[in-house]
Amino acid sequence: MKITQIKTYLMHCAPPQASGWSARNWLFVKVETDAGIYGVGEASGWPRVVETAIHDLTPLMIGEDPFHIERLWSKMQVAMMGHGMTGIVGAGAMTGIEMALWDIKGKALGQPVWNLLGGKMRDRVRVYAHAHETERARALVDQGYTAIKTGGINNCVETVAAIRKEVGEEVDLMVDVHGPPWLTTRDAIALGHALEDYDLLFYEDPVAPENIDALARVADAVDIPIAAGERHATIWGVKELIEREIIDVVQPDTGRAGGLGQMKKIAAMAEAHYCTMAPHDGSLGPVAEMAAVHLMATLPNFLILEHLADDVPQRYEVMTGQPEVVDSHIAVPDAPGLGVDLVEEAIAQYPSQGNIAAPDTSYDYQYVQARVGRALWLSEREMPPPDYRPGEIY
Ligand SMILES: [Mg+2]
Repeated sequence: MKITQIKTYLMHCAPPQASGWSARNWLFVKVETDAGIYGVGEASGWPRVVETAIHDLTPLMIGEDPFHIERLWSKMQVAMMGHGMTGIVGAGAMTGIEMALWDIKGKALGQPVWNLLGGKMRDRVRVYAHAHETERARALVDQGYTAIKTGGINNCVETVAAIRKEVGEEVDLMVDVHGPPWLTTRDAIALGHALEDYDLLFYEDPVAPENIDALARVADAVDIPIAAGERHATIWGVKELIEREIIDVVQPDTGRAGGLGQMKKIAAMAEAHYCTMAPHDGSLGPVAEMAAVHLMATLPNFLILEHLADDVPQRYEVMTGQPEVVDSHIAVPDAPGLGVDLVEEAIAQYPSQGNIAAPDTSYDYQYVQARVGRALWLSEREMPPPDYRPGEIY
């Protein structure tokens, strides 16, 4: 079998009136072969740029045997050397192609991808959803969810306290601070201390990812499991986080971590350090999520998978073989390959739009909070402070 063509499908996936951080695109990949079998994949990490990277990599793949996934991954990585370190964009491009190769191999052998990756540890994968208000948290619990993540700095302690009170002690709660570059390490530690009473499953990205020593300071000071890794790529991107035992939960993004092979290796590195895996899904479409389900089925140290329960309706239109969440779990599929397919006509209904997420003014005032209103933002009082004026420079 030989690879004959690689096609990409870029689409807009934000809600109809979305702006700011919600300006998202999804990028799907189809790798075709001369045997009539094709594989599908998905790539994240600035999708419009990743699409160009995939087109650049395509000539390297044409004529190759798609079964030799490890060798083809190495070929792509070596080909990028002249552009510097791989980074998220290069890893995203490799991820989309590599994921489709696993799908091809599974279809050709009549086996689900999880069986190629080591076989099952479990028949279903636990997932969590997101809530920022008590009403939403209650609705999710009533739907069967047993784990909920909230996020951001604004009213963080107040929100966690209210949700914990609403859903009780049985539900796992998590906080994602999203590693904002304006948050100081000292403030991230203070916020972590303020959250210690709420029995969180993890405290995610308390500081920006570029400075690993800063995250180490937070991890040393705060008595909550620390989660990070969604903005890193490949085994080398998370190596120090794992080997220095800074994090308790590693969170590679299944669309841009480098591929399922890289994620499996990251999981093995983590296992050696008693670290679990909870993949990021916050920017992903449905294909990469299903790839994560296959891989998570095989891992001894899988913790939980992020799931966007109802972000955009097009999620349910662009892929066949949709997952169903029952009692906070997704069943591991048994169909050959990934068990999903693209609906090209549906994808074509959502042409790509701007793919840079400009921060809105709330990020401006959170910067102010961390400098001017520190006592306020670490309290459980309403924010922003009444005298705050968006856009003003303090
Ligand atoms: Mg996150």
